[in-house]
Amino acid sequence: MLTERLEKELKEVYAKGLRRTVDGLRFKTAVRAEDGSGMEYLVFASNNYLGLTHEPEVMQAARDAVCWGTGSTGSRLTTGAAFATGELERELAEFKHAEKALVFNTGYMTNLGVLYALVKPGDVVFSDELNHASIIDGCRIARAKVVVYRHNDMQHLEELLKTTPVTGVRFIVTDGVFSMDGDIANLPQLVELKEKYNACLIVDDAHAAGVIGSDGSGTAAYYNLQGKVDVQIGTLSKALAAEGGYVAANSVIIEYLINKARPFIFSTAMPDMVTAAALAALRLLKAQPQKYLGRLKENTLLMRRLLKEEGLDVIDGVTPIVPVLIGSTRQTMQVMAALMDEGIMVSGIRPPTVPEGTSRLRVTVTAAHTAEEIEFAAHIMGKIWRQLNENVKEG
Ligand SMILES: *Cc1c(COP(=O)(O)O)cnc(C)c1O
Repeated sequence: MLTERLEKELKEVYAKGLRRTVDGLRFKTAVRAEDGSGMEYLVFASNNYLGLTHEPEVMQAARDAVCWGTGSTGSRLTTGAAFATGELERELAEFKHAEKALVFNTGYMTNLGVLYALVKPGDVVFSDELNHASIIDGCRIARAKVVVYRHNDMQHLEELLKTTPVTGVRFIVTDGVFSMDGDIANLPQLVELKEKYNACLIVDDAHAAGVIGSDGSGTAAYYNLQGKVDVQIGTLSKALAAEGGYVAANSVIIEYLINKARPFIFSTAMPDMVTAAALAALRLLKAQPQKYLGRLKENTLLMRRLLKEEGLDVIDGVTPIVPVLIGSTRQTMQVMAALMDEGIMVSGIRPPTVPEGTSRLRVTVTAAHTAEEIEFAAHIMGKIWRQLNENVKEG
């Protein structure tokens, strides 16, 4: 009965061309990976923005920490209280210009834990319509009243803040850099609104920390508004080259989360080797922000310029998430497959991740790509795009 129902639903997914699969991949460098058949790809699809996953210091930190065991053996509140995690939290707090930070096992769990713990009956969460799934799910398990505002539409947000009855706390929650469009939240206006309406502002900087701001610390630094965001969420699994998530906030909020956030309390802590790698990555960024951020910026500008010159429909922006609009899901997946055949890996993004009719390639660049690799990839994307258009005209 269950199996038949699932098979029926899966068939519907396949019929729409939306089947998702998980395939093996092994990264030999930060930007080159090999699949099970030995085919090698130049990867423009990862979130490894600073290329730190293969930096010798980061790899060595993980190796060194493995002598403290491969598993942490318990929750942070019991035997899993590894030294490296505490150190990482102190350095993350400083990095994010906040009083305290707390590490979770993933960014996803951080959003679940923070929203579930902080949002109570009577509170209202004002949420950008393009927020990450983990924010949406966090609101769900908090059983929060959620009011969705149009993407980055500050006028709409203010209207909703004005007209929605609230007996408790108002929360405004947004991605810092939006994961599929690569654009940046309008933080100056969000801060103005949160002050005007006495709201708590939560910014998820998963794609912003290690990416934007002069020190790479994220959206607040990008706008010179350090200290103005009440709760900053982040991940260790993107620019920081490891695995895990964190929240940075004032010491009362962090103390509360240690005592109340269920994903923090009831999950085994990460092993030292993971947090040690994140800590090493963070220290490299802090020691030489311009080295990594400068390369990332140059590569971002180059990729954006070249793809436009090739005639592709690039959504404008300044971040290394470069969305190339294709429109139809079928064509998006065709272009993606043709690129794979040429040894270039980009992500094809389709509904329900993005709205119907806006399927796209999500091209990401990292600090570890060379200019030649970017030129090569942009050229091939242009070639495949032109071939596709010719086929459409003929057919
Ligand atoms: C990736 C991402 C997350 C989840 O982080 P993980 O560490 O991968 O679980 C949360 N929020 C946003 C905005 C993200 O892009």
